Amino acid sequence: MKIKTLLAGVAAGALMVSLAACSSGGSSSGGDSGSGDGGLIGVAMPTKSSERWIQDGDAVKSQLEDQGYTVDLQYAEDDIPTQVSQIENMITKGAKALIVASIDGTTLTSVLQEAADNDIPVIAYDRLIRDTENVDYYASFDNYKVGVQQANSVLNGLGLVDLEGKATDGAPAGPFNIELFAGSPDDNNATFFWNGAIDTLQPYIDKKVLVVKSGQEAFEQAATLRWDGETAQKRMENLLTSTYSDGSKVNAVLSPYDGISRGIISALTDAGYSVGAEWPVISGQDAELDSVKAIESGEQYATIFKDTRNLAKVAVDMASALLEGNEPETNNTTDYDNGTKVVPSYLLESQIVVKDNIEDVLVKSGYWTEDEIKG
Ligand code: BGC
Repeated sequence: MKIKTLLAGVAAGALMVSLAACSSGGSSSGGDSGSGDGGLIGVAMPTKSSERWIQDGDAVKSQLEDQGYTVDLQYAEDDIPTQVSQIENMITKGAKALIVASIDGTTLTSVLQEAADNDIPVIAYDRLIRDTENVDYYASFDNYKVGVQQANSVLNGLGLVDLEGKATDGAPAGPFNIELFAGSPDDNNATFFWNGAIDTLQPYIDKKVLVVKSGQEAFEQAATLRWDGETAQKRMENLLTSTYSDGSKVNAVLSPYDGISRGIISALTDAGYSVGAEWPVISGQDAELDSVKAIESGEQYATIFKDTRNLAKVAVDMASALLEGNEPETNNTTDYDNGTKVVPSYLLESQIVVKDNIEDVLVKSGYWTEDEIKG
């Protein structure tokens, strides 16, 4: 028994070390940093218009280079045909593996058939690739839990729960007006975030502590194609005109992504809201720098931090394990059915960030410096 416990401890420790040691190399196909001896790996990212994907791309590229691979890193500016042709090019150039963060998870079926015909393994990066058997592994976060955390951050801002979701003593009875935003309907993650959030908010809606005053409670009504901040801004403007021109106020907005939150904030400011007692509680995701600043200034209440360095590490380890003939490590083989098969996954944990823990979570981990946040 004792030995078992000891071994389990050692294994857990080894995993933590391997997750922390972002650029430690460790591939036998390795060679020197950036030597390129390990062959070409194609990395397809959705867009540079969001800071997080730039950080993901940089982290994946540098970690692969540290392990001796050459990297073809491409961004498709949220244009599906561009992403398809970028992946085709990677295959033509002789990529030995592909790491893909899709724009629309359902549009890569034929290009990934080409990859399979050339025996190129494929890792879905953060977003599940759907409707194909030709995706080997999935590296992501526990996306349902991200949604739970987003809802809990809103409830926390309203004084109803602590950051773990435990009801606070003497919580206010409300009712609070809330509006709901979801992510892009073609991104598998969007429904996971939404389901986690709605399952958490629904009891409060049922008890009428929360009121979705616009009545727009369906995912389809709340969805924001391509996670676009301007689309969200327009919808928020419409909600304010259609639902709140009677003088009532919106007290909270569930937002699934920092870029959407910034659109919502602009709509509120344009409509005459100002930070202070009547400013709503707004959630987010990704700990993008402008949004961390908005949390400092009180415009945004919270974001969800998903450490892209650790995600890159998981995807890079999966790719190099596959290329060395080893089996990548997974910790979830049940939840991510892509419509054709359940894709074996490694899911990381995310964290809620509010003003009080910016220093502890984001600065101490080296994700952002104090100067970047205050600058
Ligand atoms: C990612 C989120 C991100 C969103 C918009 C999702 O697939 O998981 O972290 O906020 O895309 O880029």
